[in-house]
Amino acid sequence: AKNNSKAAVRLFEPDMDERRLRRQKLAVALQAALEKDELSLHYQPIFHLESGRIESLEVLLRWQSPEFGQVSPLELIAVAEHHGLAFRLNDWVLHRACRQLRQWQSAGFGWLKVNVNVSPNIFVRGQLAATVADSLRETGVKAESLVLEITEDTSLWDTAGSLDTLRELRRLGVEIALDDFGTGYSSFSHLRQLPVNKLKIDKSFVADLSTDQRAFNLVKTIVTLAHSLDMAVTAEGIEQPEQQRLLQQLGCQLGQGYLLARPMQADAVTDWLPRDGQ
Ligand code: C2E
Ligand code: CA
Ligand code: CA
Ligand code: CA
Repeated sequence: AKNNSKAAVRLFEPDMDERRLRRQKLAVALQAALEKDELSLHYQPIFHLESGRIESLEVLLRWQSPEFGQVSPLELIAVAEHHGLAFRLNDWVLHRACRQLRQWQSAGFGWLKVNVNVSPNIFVRGQLAATVADSLRETGVKAESLVLEITEDTSLWDTAGSLDTLRELRRLGVEIALDDFGTGYSSFSHLRQLPVNKLKIDKSFVADLSTDQRAFNLVKTIVTLAHSLDMAVTAEGIEQPEQQRLLQQLGCQLGQGYLLARPMQADAVTDWLPRDGQ
């Protein structure tokens, strides 16, 4: 067994080097991409399941690199975090999304909101609230139209700085959604303490909803928990009508997923938005 594990280590090492090398190259390319405007944003609608009305658009980062092809946003974020680019990237996304939202709002969709994903380690840095306030002011978007999505990460919530940041954001009027809820380490005490007003049920639970009794019971519990704390719940990753039906039966009011609408480029959203203003 000892020999085997040594062999495994040796086999693993070149892989690690390759990965590190790719990330280093990606970081250099990303820096250039930020300057050359190679990044783009897609928007996926979030719906009121009952009425079909649109609640918001989740902003999803896309990078079509001439060198690397389509780079997944998760890898992109990891690279940015490793190389000190997370803050700039976040700022770029936020600013671009607010500018786009402002255009839609001015074109008659004043009720529209955007949900922007924020990497958790951004919260530790004190400037987030100030950056958000800047973006809102520069683009003329009201704080009430902005929802920030953060994934749960205990190590973060324990730092006083991130709590302050959250409180400041709430004071501005920005809403906070806890993303991928159920997959992280949030405890009841976090939920009680954190100034969060929305929960997003992770798509892995939604995927198993109709086939796995435990997933069904968990979703039911999350919906009840959220409502008892006066939080809105959004289910992500709805791909089948049966999943939507069950979610509505459980009282989940908001949802998104390929069944309802895929992430789209801004132009496609403009064509797709209902002319009657809902
Ligand atoms: P997320 O925030 O959980 O976003 C949902 C992901 O599920 C998106 O993947 C979306 O395209 C995908 N999705 C939507 N509907 C369905 C469905 O019905 N079925 C399935 N299987 N998937 C669906 P995407 O765009 O690849 O993004 C992956 C992750 O990257 C996001 O997960 C988020 O954590 C991160 N991310 C994306 N954009 C940004 C960004 O601008 N900033 C930060 N910090 N993170 C971002
Ligand atoms: Ca999200
Ligand atoms: Ca999510
Ligand atoms: Ca996720």
